[in-house]
Amino acid sequence: MTSRPVTPGPITYVKVACHCGLNEFRAGFLTDQLPISNDLCHCNACRHSSGQMAVYHVSVASLICSDTDEAFHVDGDGCKSPGGDGDLIAYRTSDDAVRYFCSICSAQLLFHYLGKPKEGEGSEKGKREGGFWCVAAGALERTEGIVKVGYHIWVEDTLDGGLAEHFRTVDGVDLPRYRGGAKTEQLPLGWHDLTPSSKSLNGSDDALYFACHCRTLQFKVTRPNAQSYLPHSAFPDLMHPYDTTHLAKVRNSGDVKWWLRPLEAEHPAKYFSGHCACEYCRLTSGFEIQSWAYVPRGNIIVESTGKSLALQEAQKDEVEEVKEALERLGMRDDDLTPKAEEATMEDRTKGLRQYISGPGRYRESCQNCGATAFAWQAGRPDLICVAVALVDEAQAGSRAETWFDWCLTRVSFMEQALSPKTVEGMVVSMKAVELEGREEQKIPLEEAKGLNGSAVPLSTFTVKGKDTVQEVVALVDELTA
Ligand SMILES: [Zn+2]
Ligand SMILES: [Zn+2]
Ligand SMILES: [Zn+2]
Ligand SMILES: [Zn+2]
Repeated sequence: MTSRPVTPGPITYVKVACHCGLNEFRAGFLTDQLPISNDLCHCNACRHSSGQMAVYHVSVASLICSDTDEAFHVDGDGCKSPGGDGDLIAYRTSDDAVRYFCSICSAQLLFHYLGKPKEGEGSEKGKREGGFWCVAAGALERTEGIVKVGYHIWVEDTLDGGLAEHFRTVDGVDLPRYRGGAKTEQLPLGWHDLTPSSKSLNGSDDALYFACHCRTLQFKVTRPNAQSYLPHSAFPDLMHPYDTTHLAKVRNSGDVKWWLRPLEAEHPAKYFSGHCACEYCRLTSGFEIQSWAYVPRGNIIVESTGKSLALQEAQKDEVEEVKEALERLGMRDDDLTPKAEEATMEDRTKGLRQYISGPGRYRESCQNCGATAFAWQAGRPDLICVAVALVDEAQAGSRAETWFDWCLTRVSFMEQALSPKTVEGMVVSMKAVELEGREEQKIPLEEAKGLNGSAVPLSTFTVKGKDTVQEVVALVDELTA
């Protein structure tokens, strides 16, 4: 922002902050336009640059510093401090749009639509008009009375309805699902546009491909195999709400391999997945809902190395530091060079920015575009939360239901939700999805697996593994009774 608001009328200010607190400012909204009925955007650029299945950007009248009434600057342009007021990294997703994420926690705080280039005689080169700024609604201190989800846009890009299928209603009102931008054709529930193998370059059923928007991060997930049973992990909040379950039960002393689905099946082919509303997820991203799949580290193969994902805690590169110190002192130790390379090559998968969100809790995002990719914990380093939003939607849709068994009974840590109505709406919607799944004639997974390259009816894509859903429901009922 380079200028104060020119629009007259009272302004309501709401604090905006990312998880690490490095970026803090106030968003100004025109008071007489509140609450804003806002879109959730499902477009490919939003999903792949954020790592979330939909992006919740709300436009603002102004951006003001948190401790002064000065305009908040994202860079040094027109700002007293040469680097700008916060510490945000810009990433351009298209000719017309720039996104800004926190340089430490990667929260996607701001979106700048640059506007259309000015045309006509005498127009200055590079001048644009109609630009605006948006702020991530999940990073607002409060949303009540400020902004609410009103409709879905660019559902078409998901090829299977994406998160819109699991988020159909808010406060008893059905959310319109627009094919493109607002007010375009509406897509019905259950809509999908999956034409097996037609759009995907990676038309294999043995691996599911993922990439962030800038494609710095490219990896694939393989089907469960013998080593998928190796991790040990407590149950997730999705299965045992931590607020209401005895810790002894959460600990999973029976060592149930709950991430492999169908649960306890002889040959599980899917991974458990679900939506999370916890504060870590919300404030390190910017939307209230983050969607994860639980995948053993050994089943995540990095494209550039052909090896399993490597995620240990980022170490300060001590060898490199020593080398630099020696050089400053005019000394050189050539022996250190090969060791330095060797030490850093294998340590961690390249291109990831690590953020420690809490004791023993790590989040990993793309260094370049800021997309959230993984979350993991020191206590279970070999079972990784993978951001489903980065999936190659052309392969099996953006929910990838032939790979992921979605929890339809609960949103993880929903008690922490910033907007209770959002998670309530999701729980109601997912219940409906589950009931529809029960009513439908189920097709066993073995048949559904022939999706790519064969003439399997498209309805296969909407089919849930009956046993899976019922087993999960039964288990959750039993454990929460
Ligand atoms: Zn931050
Ligand atoms: Zn979008
Ligand atoms: Zn979370
Ligand atoms: Zn990227």
